[in-house]
Amino acid sequence: MKPTQPAPLLIVIASYDANGNGINDYDPAHPELVTDKTSPIYGEQWALTKPEDCYETFFGENSYSMLNYYKEMTNNKFWFYPVHIDHPQKEGALEGILEITVPIPHPAAMRNLEGYDNRIAAQKAIATIVKACDPYVDFAKYDLNGDGIVTPDELAIIILNAGYDNASTKPDLAFSKVREENGPLPSHRYMVHGTSQPTDVTMRGDVKIVKISNVGELTSYGPMSIGTPAHELAHNLGAQDMYSRFTHPHERVPGWPIPANLSLMSRGNKMEGGSRPAYIDPYQRVYLGFSEEELAEEDGIYTLYSTRSGKYKVLKITTPDPKEYFYAEVRLKDGFESALTPGDSKGGVIFWHIDDDINDEWFLKAQCVSSNRPNGQHHDLGNAVHVRNMFPKVVGPDGEMIKYGPHFTLEREFCEDPFYYKSDDPETSLYDSSAFCGAASFSYSLNSFPADVPYTWKLTVEVLDEPGDEMRIKITRGATKA
Ligand SMILES: [Zn+2]
Repeated sequence: MKPTQPAPLLIVIASYDANGNGINDYDPAHPELVTDKTSPIYGEQWALTKPEDCYETFFGENSYSMLNYYKEMTNNKFWFYPVHIDHPQKEGALEGILEITVPIPHPAAMRNLEGYDNRIAAQKAIATIVKACDPYVDFAKYDLNGDGIVTPDELAIIILNAGYDNASTKPDLAFSKVREENGPLPSHRYMVHGTSQPTDVTMRGDVKIVKISNVGELTSYGPMSIGTPAHELAHNLGAQDMYSRFTHPHERVPGWPIPANLSLMSRGNKMEGGSRPAYIDPYQRVYLGFSEEELAEEDGIYTLYSTRSGKYKVLKITTPDPKEYFYAEVRLKDGFESALTPGDSKGGVIFWHIDDDINDEWFLKAQCVSSNRPNGQHHDLGNAVHVRNMFPKVVGPDGEMIKYGPHFTLEREFCEDPFYYKSDDPETSLYDSSAFCGAASFSYSLNSFPADVPYTWKLTVEVLDEPGDEMRIKITRGATKA
């Protein structure tokens, strides 16, 4: 499923016509009729978005569009372009976008009807919408490998559901306490959660659609921005969530050090209301084939390049444990990442500690950075970010910093300056792995040390340049003499 070339994308703007009469029956004088289960128009909800409203957001050539987001992040290896509409709905219709109206209630209403629950309602809504697209696009020709399945790397589909997207909307709690039934407009109470969903719909030419992305058309900030769609579509390509998935609320660990702003798959989809999403973390940029790795097996000086230089690479710094290594990359606050952190820091080098013992077990289960407790125990993060100014400092008797604690301090905001770079302050240029520990193991530098490796082994890196497109770093590995 890993993308090897740019993929066509179909955007489906979906309206719910509960009684199937082809007319939007919402009546401002009787808003209760769309939320009253006994009403014939229960769950009626029509989209406010028009194709011309979202074309530029997704496909604009000269704007901060989703097309340009993927082009920038992948150095022109991959992006989503508008699929050709073979049989347009009207003359002069835009490419890549369909307006579909289905004769069913919105899934957040449908789930309350007899015989339905959340899962069944979502599946039915999605399958109905996908099938309704069949007359307009010749899906069979996108099954490039002829396996009878149009996979998301051959043709991606995202549904913009009429109404709000739950994850980026301030609900109207005065109306209802029930999640996903309290959208802020009386005509648009029903919300969906942005998801990447399996489906199973057979189209003309006997090909199947098996996976789609599903989001609301609106957010509290206005029309759906690109952050959440970019996140959900990355899932379709094989990317995994980088936040605490499947962690029970009572097991949540405050400050669990997820990649947060530094990955689209964590909280990076939300930057600037989703209009300036962060790139995917380097582990998954390599995993998806978007970026190359350079191997640093020898100590010495290496040059890192920013994404927008066109020469971005992830530097893989090996350790005595073949399953553990460090990644170094440049993240500058420019282009799509201009809102990567608050404040006016410039960016710099970010270090990551990768543990493939963890990832082999947890990555494909979307839990490699999760704070869940599968056997009553936490595990370390397989994709752990090592940033400055986010972890509490453990200090010595004279107040000198010795090391960091295992979890982020509890400030809600991401810190302004998590980066490493050369400056007048020596602290900003020196990365030392022995200051960082595993969130579960509390083991410093490495999560596990091979038998012949002393616990004093560490990686130190001096960043030799100020924030910029090219940044040199000097790597030193080894045990300090006792
Ligand atoms: Zn996700």
